[in-house]
Amino acid sequence: MSQSSLEILNRVFGYHEFRGQQQEVIASLVNGDDALVLMPTGGGKSLCYQIPALLRPGAGVVISPLIALMQDQVAALRQNGVRAAYLNSTLDLEQVREVELALLQGGLDLLYLAPERLMAGRTLDLLGRSRIALFAIDEAHCVSQWGHDFRPEYMQLAVLAERFPGVPRIALTATADEPTRREMRERLVLQQARSFIGGFDRPNIRYHIGQFKDAKTQLLRFLQREHQGDSGIVYCLSRRKVESIAAWLEDKGLTALPYHAGLPAATRQLHQERFLREDAVVIVATIAFGMGIDKPDVRFVAHLDLPKSIEAYYQETGRAGRDGLPADAWMAYGLQGVISLRQMLEASDADEAHKRVERRKLDAMLGLCELADCRRQALLRYFSDPLPAPCGNCDNCLEPPETWDASLAAQKALSAVYRTGQRFGVNYLVDVLRGGGDERIARFGHDRLKVFGLGAEMDANQWRSVFRQLVARGLLNVDVDGHGSLRLTEAARPVLRGEQTLELRRDRKPQRKSRSRDSGGVSAGDRVLWDALRAKRRELAEVQGVPAYVIFHDATLMQMMQSRPQTLSAMADLDGVGSKKLERYGKEFLEVLQLIDVESEDDEGLSETLRATLALMQKGLSAEAVARQRGLKPSTVLDHLARLIAHGAIGLADAVQLPEHELALIRDTLLEARQNDAFRLRPAYEALGGAYDYPLLRCIAAQMEVGIHPEGS
Ligand SMILES: [Zn+2]
Repeated sequence: MSQSSLEILNRVFGYHEFRGQQQEVIASLVNGDDALVLMPTGGGKSLCYQIPALLRPGAGVVISPLIALMQDQVAALRQNGVRAAYLNSTLDLEQVREVELALLQGGLDLLYLAPERLMAGRTLDLLGRSRIALFAIDEAHCVSQWGHDFRPEYMQLAVLAERFPGVPRIALTATADEPTRREMRERLVLQQARSFIGGFDRPNIRYHIGQFKDAKTQLLRFLQREHQGDSGIVYCLSRRKVESIAAWLEDKGLTALPYHAGLPAATRQLHQERFLREDAVVIVATIAFGMGIDKPDVRFVAHLDLPKSIEAYYQETGRAGRDGLPADAWMAYGLQGVISLRQMLEASDADEAHKRVERRKLDAMLGLCELADCRRQALLRYFSDPLPAPCGNCDNCLEPPETWDASLAAQKALSAVYRTGQRFGVNYLVDVLRGGGDERIARFGHDRLKVFGLGAEMDANQWRSVFRQLVARGLLNVDVDGHGSLRLTEAARPVLRGEQTLELRRDRKPQRKSRSRDSGGVSAGDRVLWDALRAKRRELAEVQGVPAYVIFHDATLMQMMQSRPQTLSAMADLDGVGSKKLERYGKEFLEVLQLIDVESEDDEGLSETLRATLALMQKGLSAEAVARQRGLKPSTVLDHLARLIAHGAIGLADAVQLPEHELALIRDTLLEARQNDAFRLRPAYEALGGAYDYPLLRCIAAQMEVGIHPEGS
């Protein structure tokens, strides 16, 4: 069976190998067993049920909570030649009949349904009369009553176990802590299901959490410098802020659309669709936006307000970079944000037990913000998925923050709170410490306090940073009445008495210089080709009325740009190019490649990115070192090497170190697979049992090509 699932992966979806636990999950389902799958976003969850649905007789029924999402998934499947359909409220009666008939006659591979549709008696009857390959329950954490995505209809899905005892079921989610997983098992009657728990790490997401006075301007700078032409999400807490930030970004020349629950449904729908379908739309949203958004090429998620918990932060940032390409999780927060969240929590009507849970969650989130070590390690530790070494891809790893011994400053700050009667907010306290400002100080006689003017050595911003960190660490509490006055907590005592020292972060100055990596790893020299490939994709998508990524993912276009296939068979070697898409789009993209290739190369036929790789190779760096230095995937650098070999700029030995007998074996295999005057890599790859990866084969093939046509023609 593993042979045929791999075959479907290759032929239908255009991928060469399974990732993580996909193959085992598929084998379980094909066997008729249930499965519970927890995989990080972008881990390839949907293939886990799509492939078994194609392998088992009958249609796979997918329960998915969002209509827009199921429409896009169906569109994507149809692009690959899979017979997929959905039943939801957007269809008219005639269309519903058609889908039902197709299902009954065995003409569907996959059927998507919303949970409420499924529970309508009529649908269950229909399924009862049809052949069902499996049930897939997507976003299965919605069954958890304690979660933030609770959907009551999910509770009724237990009925599937009763009504369809022989049909395997799979529940999938990207976020579920241990208690949620237990709830999923119980409520969905999946006690017997095998668990597949993937890690939580999203290595391609770069975390960045900063404290900025003018977050809005910093956001704009970040978008202009690092995400020109990219899609992304900006989260804000309030509807009003959503509106004003969207308008402001529009004013600055970006396409920025607001999204929140207060907008008319039609506007929300329109904005969501534009975000999904167009290439460079920034959506500015409250957390009402995003669940089930499956857009693979979201290049950044920015937060202008603090999320309430690490779970929420992880889930929201997890919407970035589902295609595995570099993406940013960028957050700005300040003292006011910390204070409002604490206030909202204390002022809520929830019972004390509930508040205690929320307080703990908020504390953990603030801890993540004020951390001086690797963010990813802390994030993963929170999900009990420890990462042994610092990640090298978060702000703290890239630019370790300075810390300072703030014991004395903290003592002064806490003492100012205490001496003024725990009735004042931060601005007043800072004025007292700095010895000036507020006219009330003299009126209350606070200018006669010992702390008055005791902190003149630091400016107001530095003091605000101290107060923020004291609140974040729980040494100060915020009042419930909404005036923002600060009070000491028990935890403040030892610091106030000088019994405990305190290390705080020094706030960073906003970055002035741009980082070397540009968006998604496209260098300036490749920009022309990249834009041309995306324009072609957009054109094809618009004609069919589907989102651009349904034609090809960014990751596929990126490979196309880097390996520049010249033939259809070389195009077929790219990830994400299955036989249907090759047939439909292969030619058109080859034309773009040929056209642009001529334009963007220099006199010697080398593009800028190739030159950059070549220069580093000539300095004696290994391929891995070049990849690290340039922030590229090792496979991309090997692709470069293959092209440099083809150009005669380097020799095979510069790129590949293998014993002669292995080289001989690979050469023989490549020659056997040669067809129509071209090396065909896939048959060779398969004949070699997958022991050598494609970029390596490409290097060897390139060298043989030079040998066959020594002029490089
Ligand atoms: Zn890190």
